[in-house]
Amino acid sequence: MKDKYGRDIDHLRISVTQMCNLSCTYCHHEGEYNPGQEQSPVEIKRFVEVFTELGIRKIKITGGEPLIREDILEIIRSISSIKNIEEISMTTNGTLLEGLAVDLKRVGLSRINIGCDSLTSILPKNTETVGKGLTAAHNAGLNPIKINMVVLKGINDGDIERMIGFARENQVVLQLIELINVDSDFYRRHYFSLENVEKSLERRAYHVRKRKMQARRQYHLDDVIVEIVKPSKNGFCLNCLKIRLTSDGRLKPCLMKKDNLIVSKDKDSILKAFEERCIYAHD
Ligand code: SAM
Repeated sequence: MKDKYGRDIDHLRISVTQMCNLSCTYCHHEGEYNPGQEQSPVEIKRFVEVFTELGIRKIKITGGEPLIREDILEIIRSISSIKNIEEISMTTNGTLLEGLAVDLKRVGLSRINIGCDSLTSILPKNTETVGKGLTAAHNAGLNPIKINMVVLKGINDGDIERMIGFARENQVVLQLIELINVDSDFYRRHYFSLENVEKSLERRAYHVRKRKMQARRQYHLDDVIVEIVKPSKNGFCLNCLKIRLTSDGRLKPCLMKKDNLIVSKDKDSILKAFEERCIYAHD
């Protein structure tokens, strides 16, 4: 399924709730403001069925905090029962993962991203809060496990090297993420460019892989992989292969656009949403 820029859209990012048990100051809330009623597992399934007809093969479940939903296992089970779905993954803050990892795997989750921004309690998502969830994810066989670290100037930018060590020790991929601007004042104070970090990783890596998704680069160092996510740079938007479904059942072609939400589950409206996908950055 190609959009008007010729991009083969095969990823659907589904927000299942806007509720969260943590409050991270920088959170972009998946671009959702004033969400309405959450969708039921049946409604989500109906949407995904239409999407698979259009070529969607990979699903990412997000939120809010997706594990807050009491019916999260039902949501994953019903999506995984759909023909042609190749992969279901999830982004979570990991706090509720310990008791759920085995069941998530059993109903069809294949891999997981766990938010972890620091080595101390300076930020809500840290190595302490994710520890048990991480072990449970390993034991359940979720693979790969990625740690998502949003790098913030003056807060955790000094933690990068030690987080690489943490990822190595725990056999997980570390994703270093540049801050997306949702609050100009916070952004001005805390945006940290990963430019120099990337140059240093380039020198240290024995292999560099460019992923199709958003042209992200993965640096393979000794016993650990570090992936760089730089929204709006280096072909990020040109190579964006995803579309979004909001927690209240609207299509959102781009995280950064507020005016392109489309309500409907029929094929024509979904096709229109594909057409309206935008290039946000100038690359
Ligand atoms: N509660 C889950 C979690 O913590 O991963 C899922 C929702 S969270 C919005 C999804 C991802 O977006 C997390 O990896 C988070 O770190 C990232 N994120 C949130 N706000 C961001 C921002 N302003 N810039 C860059 N990444 C952000």
